[in-house]
Amino acid sequence: MPDKAPDGTFRPSRFNVVTKAEDIGAVVLYNSMRGSVFKVGSPLGERVHALLHNRKSVLSQPDPDSEERVLFDTLVAKGFLVSSSHDELAAADDLRDRRKNRTDRLELIIMPTEACNFRCTYCYEDFALGRMATHVREGVKALVRRYRREHGIEKLTVSWFGGEPLVAFDVIEELSTFFLDFCAEEGVEYSAGITTNGLLLTPEVAARCIELGISSYQITLDGPAHTHDSSRFLMGGGKTFDEIVANLTEMSRTDKVFRALIRTNFTEENSVHVPELIEEMSRLYAHDKRFRVIYRPVGDWGGPQGEDSEAFSGKQAEMTKLGLCTSALDAGLDPADDVFLKPNGSVCYAASPWSFVIRPNGLVNKCTVALRDPRNAVGQLGADGDLGLDPELMSLWVDNDDAKDSGCRSCFFRPSCQGAHCPLVRIQEGERPCPPQKVWIGPTITTVAASRGAR
Ligand code: SF4
Ligand code: SF4
Repeated sequence: MPDKAPDGTFRPSRFNVVTKAEDIGAVVLYNSMRGSVFKVGSPLGERVHALLHNRKSVLSQPDPDSEERVLFDTLVAKGFLVSSSHDELAAADDLRDRRKNRTDRLELIIMPTEACNFRCTYCYEDFALGRMATHVREGVKALVRRYRREHGIEKLTVSWFGGEPLVAFDVIEELSTFFLDFCAEEGVEYSAGITTNGLLLTPEVAARCIELGISSYQITLDGPAHTHDSSRFLMGGGKTFDEIVANLTEMSRTDKVFRALIRTNFTEENSVHVPELIEEMSRLYAHDKRFRVIYRPVGDWGGPQGEDSEAFSGKQAEMTKLGLCTSALDAGLDPADDVFLKPNGSVCYAASPWSFVIRPNGLVNKCTVALRDPRNAVGQLGADGDLGLDPELMSLWVDNDDAKDSGCRSCFFRPSCQGAHCPLVRIQEGERPCPPQKVWIGPTITTVAASRGAR
């Protein structure tokens, strides 16, 4: 990123957002190419606003001895002012192309089973496929060997997903053991995470997971016990909240290295109860920085379980989410939403050519939601590790981005989203998939700034 202007002039970056956040009494700055958020109080905030608010301004560097010079140089160093000759659109193209063309990594989202011990009201899965077959497990191992041999991958990332992946824990153990051994032998960096409902994550299983290299955990708690147990209950009925929280609490009592993200899906109706959960999570985990929280409105995710559930979207849903983040912050918890503001941070994994979902029958998908859409069946894994990819279907997911969309090309959020926040929206609805973080950028960055203080 050049910070020197050949003709001595600069202009505000096209990727800036500058907002006067009256509720926190500051000017908040965000730049999507840097992923940085700053809060600037009075009177400096007004000077920063005056310098940056007009994207068309052409500004000369102030005199070296002037008071303005330090501020000006700081804004240049932080990427809020760029050289007039700097081609920011080319830089955004380059960021996207570097992500898409990288050959040093392989990201696998593996479904060891699609069976689940829960029947959540909003679930989109049909639980049709059971435990991963032996030949598919062999195919996964061959795939990793092949990617190392043919592409020279230096990093393997595995996300265990389901169904409930811990229902097929033996598959996780077998494949994780292979990944750990293979990556250690080959000098490949390995990291793994799991999305689990948490019921089977007993202290013994959690300890074994950590031994198996699974360092990040996403567990859903939909409000306090009375709301959680009415939306996330056992197959055949039965409460789950107390056991999940007991499992998490046991994890927090260990000194193991892991990250746990507690996700709460909220509807218009149950959101009023989420503060009760925040209070409980604060009491249990505010002292433990391995735990973070995230809040998401229940979406219309389709599928047989979801037909009667109510999606919550639009401004009210987003403002509710930000309100919950603020309450969590006030309670000493750490909301994990700032990652979406980083460069590449709002791009879905389905948009990257090196990311694949492997189903228990060896079907290769891109998206973990549209499991019944034939356009998502991009390949079939063979026992020899060949993904059997259909190039046209792959292109639908990985080339459907800002390169072909004039609206995206001029968007301030482009480095973060790249027009690829959700390729499924483009495929199924033919619409630009702007993420809520972009649509409600002012309140989003204000919440992040309030959480961090000035940085
Ligand atoms: S394509 Fe859309 S629905 Fe599918 S995994 Fe990505 S964000 Fe989710
Ligand atoms: S999809 Fe929306 S947010 Fe993403 S780059 Fe395009 S216009 Fe911007």
